[in-house]
Amino acid sequence: MSYDPDNIFAKILRGEIPSTQVYEDDDTLVFMDIMPRAEGHCLIIPKSPCRNVLDASPAQLNSVIATTQKIANAVMRAFDAQGVTIQQFNEAAGGQEVFHLHFHVLPRYENVKLRAPGQMEDSAVIAANAEKIRGALAEA
Ligand code: AMP
Repeated sequence: MSYDPDNIFAKILRGEIPSTQVYEDDDTLVFMDIMPRAEGHCLIIPKSPCRNVLDASPAQLNSVIATTQKIANAVMRAFDAQGVTIQQFNEAAGGQEVFHLHFHVLPRYENVKLRAPGQMEDSAVIAANAEKIRGALAEA
């Protein structure tokens, strides 16, 4: 399977479609999921191309995991969460829908299930949640 440079996250990286970004460094970008399965659901991607874990380089994996840990700690603080779920899917049979490597970070609470997939969130809610994460990162 080869990398498709027209996947939606590649377009976000090129600024061709909008996203609500919360963090970036030289190697990674973090933005809010538009169909969040929990309040504060965000996505961590490498800035360089790869489909998923199967073709990622060790350097891509290292940088994405390091940023995922940073964001997991930030959402714990930002949303006063009791836990965090980190999800990552590989190829369609593995549940992947967008073919640019990404990790999901989802703040969690005891006895609160994830929302059903595929439900768009209001953009003002997403913007407010992004601001909470930026604030938590700034205080770290
Ligand atoms: P998956 O490939 O199964 O890990 O899922 C892709 C994720 O990307 C889903 O959670 C979608 O809600 C999310 N998503 C799809 N398009 C966008 C977009 N334009 N901006 C932010 N998140 C997106």
